[in-house]
Amino acid sequence: MEDLDSLSRADLIRLILELQRQIEDLRKQNEELRRKNKRSAASFSKGERKKNPKRPGRKPGQGQFSRRPKPSAEASSGPPVDVPVEGTRCPFCGGQLEREEPEEASVTDMPAAPEPEVSLFRVHVCHCQKCGRKTRGKHPDVAADQ
Ligand SMILES: [Zn+2]
Repeated sequence: MEDLDSLSRADLIRLILELQRQIEDLRKQNEELRRKNKRSAASFSKGERKKNPKRPGRKPGQGQFSRRPKPSAEASSGPPVDVPVEGTRCPFCGGQLEREEPEEASVTDMPAAPEPEVSLFRVHVCHCQKCGRKTRGKHPDVAADQ
């Protein structure tokens, strides 16, 4: 190693540049070795699968399972949309429909903005006086089973 104290400023700069060049070379070599290594490692693993691989994901009894909380009314962006039952006849049997309590359904939209957009719906429900089956109001944004 050269005596750094005796070097001029220009020499030091030259030395630094030289060292940088060497570092860059080593970095490239390192990169190349890693790439080769990865390729051969991948070929080794071919065809050798674990006989009983563990299923991914959480097993029963591990950690807590939590249900998604119902979105708060505050998060919603307006009064519920009325979703009436169209027609007065049962779509299954044609019997007379009788009104029930509307059910609440909510649809949460996640646009680019982090604030979720919750739309509330008042889904009207009727049941058939003849066969007892329920008919709910339909809305394109509300899933049939919601
Ligand atoms: Zn009916």
